[in-house]
Amino acid sequence: MIKILKNGTVYSPDHLGIKDILIVHDKIGYIADEIPVPRGIGEVQVHDCSGKILTPGFIDGHVHLIGGGGEGGPTTRTPEVMLSRITTAGITTVVGCLGTDGITRNMASLLAKARALEAEGITTFIYTGSYEVPTTTITGSIRSDLVLIDKVIGVGEIAISDHRSSQPTRDQLAHLAAEARVGGMLGGKPGIVHLHVGSGSEGISVIFDFVENTEIPVSQFLPTHMGRTPQLLDQAVELCRLGGRVDLTAGRRTAGQVAQLLQHGARIEQITISSDGNGSMPRFDEKGNLVGLGIGSPKTVYQTWKECVQKYELPISQALKLVTENPAAYLDLTDLKGRIAVGADADILVLTEQLEIDSVFARGREMVREGKPLVLGTFEE
Ligand code: ZN
Repeated sequence: MIKILKNGTVYSPDHLGIKDILIVHDKIGYIADEIPVPRGIGEVQVHDCSGKILTPGFIDGHVHLIGGGGEGGPTTRTPEVMLSRITTAGITTVVGCLGTDGITRNMASLLAKARALEAEGITTFIYTGSYEVPTTTITGSIRSDLVLIDKVIGVGEIAISDHRSSQPTRDQLAHLAAEARVGGMLGGKPGIVHLHVGSGSEGISVIFDFVENTEIPVSQFLPTHMGRTPQLLDQAVELCRLGGRVDLTAGRRTAGQVAQLLQHGARIEQITISSDGNGSMPRFDEKGNLVGLGIGSPKTVYQTWKECVQKYELPISQALKLVTENPAAYLDLTDLKGRIAVGADADILVLTEQLEIDSVFARGREMVREGKPLVLGTFEE
């Protein structure tokens, strides 16, 4: 199937100007000022993108694909995410993880869900493990999961500095990081150590310890929820100074926190934004009593990105890196993902001038049109 997206203003994330994009099956085949519609080769779909902005599909590096939560008992376990909830959020690649509950949820189930979503049209990866250390795996070890299971790209989210963590010792965490590193090397994967950081006073001091006292490079670690407290944001600045990377969970304060990190010397390439989507979102009254539970939306990534542009005046091309090029880099996927370039996967968002999501293409397939899902998951109505 051949498609041509015509006359859109393209951000690769770099601003390329008004271009036509040729899509051949699932890949971007050609980009030029004008691509004539070929004849005699079967059906060619032409999409008029005049007045529209084209960007790479967003990559969300932290989604609870089979649900999360459960901290308030069995009724607070969130359900599985459905395809269109991801695609209508402009996301074409996700990394799934378990979370607090590694007992009633398991890696086999997460792997099956990731495979299902991939078959339904988006691109998926998973972290092996849940909050605890030693952590839950598919094959019995982090190392062999990374070597043997295609979708596993690292270990996480491992909880540190949190009342819900297994209170892992420094040596347990060092061993876990070494497993991820060697498993990543043998499996040809990034072997990321994805750390859920709670509001405990130690924050990510264990990463600073490892960087100083072990051979494990700072690039192995990707701590998330780094905007949770002002102290963590300070540590994020420090980690960036050491050449590390930080992930912020999208929310009301996140765009401002990106601006703050940049002001304090972090490079934009060191920052990513993920949704923590489909996890449970407890709602508290003014006295701190639990009054209800919601489900985290993957759309917060897009909303935060838009706020970076519209409220904090980050150029579109820069803000896009947070949600496209940067996560593609830590996933070791820069040739395929996070860019509009010849040979890359045809993961493309079509936005209005006001940056509203119009259409979403995932591996060449139109998943969303005029903001509404065109393709539904198997059990969606
Ligand atoms: Zn978390």
